[in-house]
Amino acid sequence: MNTKCKLDLAERDSKIIELRGEGKTSTEIAKEVGVCGQTVMNVLTRYGLHEPKKLNKTSKPSKQKTKRCPTCKATNNPKEAKFCCMCGSDIRSEADILLERLNKAYKACCDLIPGSINEEVRNTILDATKFIETHKEI
Ligand SMILES: [Zn+2]
Repeated sequence: MNTKCKLDLAERDSKIIELRGEGKTSTEIAKEVGVCGQTVMNVLTRYGLHEPKKLNKTSKPSKQKTKRCPTCKATNNPKEAKFCCMCGSDIRSEADILLERLNKAYKACCDLIPGSINEEVRNTILDATKFIETHKEI
């Protein structure tokens, strides 16, 4: 009885691994093998075929090299990308947009600013740019 049970478990596990090898999702595997999704996850994790989702609360967001698209959920966009490589949505952050506006505004009016305060305005914009750059990841 005990042996039979163990054998069944081994069979179940190998079936799960086999289906995973075919590229099926955990949900599909769960349905086909007749177990719950969590069991599939546990088996895959045990055999190193599934990475449990990690909560990234402790890691700094600045370490991320890619950006997630809020529209199509694509995660392979380069960090500096302005538009999603999958669906073309605008994926700039508010900080990115603000930086662009700031630069555009300065470029548009820098010739009009009197020389006496031009340097100060320029420094203010440069400081603001730096500030946004350092804080936009938070
Ligand atoms: Zn997208």
